[in-house]
Amino acid sequence: KTSTPYIGRFAPSPTGPLHFGSLVCALGSYLDATAHGGHWLVRMEDLDPPREEPGAADRIVRSLEAHGLHWHGPLEWQSRRHSLYEDTLAELAVRQLVYPCHCSRSQIRRNGGHDNDSCRTAGEEQGPCALRLKCAGGEEHFHDLWRGEQRQLIGEDTILKRRDGLYAYQLAVVVDDIDQGVSHIVRGADLLDTTGAQQVLFRMLGATPPQFGHLPLVMGPDGHQKLSKQNHAPAIDNHNASANLCTALDFLGFHVPAELAHEKPEHILKWAAARWQRHQVDMRDRQLH
Ligand code: GLU
Repeated sequence: KTSTPYIGRFAPSPTGPLHFGSLVCALGSYLDATAHGGHWLVRMEDLDPPREEPGAADRIVRSLEAHGLHWHGPLEWQSRRHSLYEDTLAELAVRQLVYPCHCSRSQIRRNGGHDNDSCRTAGEEQGPCALRLKCAGGEEHFHDLWRGEQRQLIGEDTILKRRDGLYAYQLAVVVDDIDQGVSHIVRGADLLDTTGAQQVLFRMLGATPPQFGHLPLVMGPDGHQKLSKQNHAPAIDNHNASANLCTALDFLGFHVPAELAHEKPEHILKWAAARWQRHQVDMRDRQLH
């Protein structure tokens, strides 16, 4: 696979500021791209205004910059890419691969996950409804860069547009990764389960799925839940960028010399990129220390 150019990306949702869990993901994807001579992109996934926090996108951007995590090319915003999502839905509709669905989540579950036959065949839009991709029932395989062979059952027809009219994450993420030529997706293990359905959509849209790799999760203070905006993970402090990077590197399995924390972020990143080896990543989900 060395002949294909490496394009990686970090794709945060601006539902809150960058916290340690998201810093680890940003850093892991940055280092994997840089160490392989690749480009690293940043895409703001501002697709879901009700869940977003005012100012969070700018705070994330400033934190990345403060930590020396400079991206290649322009920063992309999903909120400015709606026409691409609409065109893709129109294309899938022409190919009769999507259908309007009125079912609630619990109805779908009661139907055994993928039995949306009444909606699949009725085909008529009445009132607010979701748009689903006809894809349930298959089994997807992929080789995770860290976790090896993965097998996922596609239990449900993927929602591509939500009942409230918003484009679904699963649609936008795949359309954008294709459009931006992303070859490697390095992200947190919380997204492992979404991969099979994304791979299906890649292929339906005529693209070769990228390589996927899922990093370990930083766990919150209780040790059971991942650090997240929902459990009020604190924002990382941009004034401690060097120390933050060293903590994140330690989490990723580096032996970080104490002096390194006194260097500039750019120097620390260069140090780490020169030493990055996938097999050295410590794969346990755990708290920081
Ligand atoms: N925007 C997604 C999130 O913040 C991540 C998308 C991805 O990396 O595939 O959870």
